[in-house]
Amino acid sequence: MQRMMNQICLSDDVKNKRPSLCAYCHGLASSLLHIKNGKIKGACSMEHLKYIGEGKTMEQKQNFAQINEELLSVALSDAKPRYIELSKKNGSYVLHQWDKEDRVHFVRKLVSSYLVNSKAQADE
Ligand SMILES: [Zn+2]
Repeated sequence: MQRMMNQICLSDDVKNKRPSLCAYCHGLASSLLHIKNGKIKGACSMEHLKYIGEGKTMEQKQNFAQINEELLSVALSDAKPRYIELSKKNGSYVLHQWDKEDRVHFVRKLVSSYLVNSKAQADE
């Protein structure tokens, strides 16, 4: 049964709804997924995937995402050229007036930059 769930992971729907956090401990999710009744839960490890399957949650979660203000500024700087390019393309510097695809593209660039720099910080 678990193997079947892993095969379902290949669909675009699952790919687009992939959780960022482990449903058990709220740490970063790995590529492990628990899928049941259309609900997709991420897991950080095989052990936590097993717990999620058993309906367990960590009683006192130690993990929670933090915003690093310096890296947020770096991400904004990194995304600025793309913002200017998309503003010119859409004829407006007002984000909500852009095509949805361009808004999503810009936010993806921003988040991606933040995460890449967060990974670099973690690896220092
Ligand atoms: Zn976990």
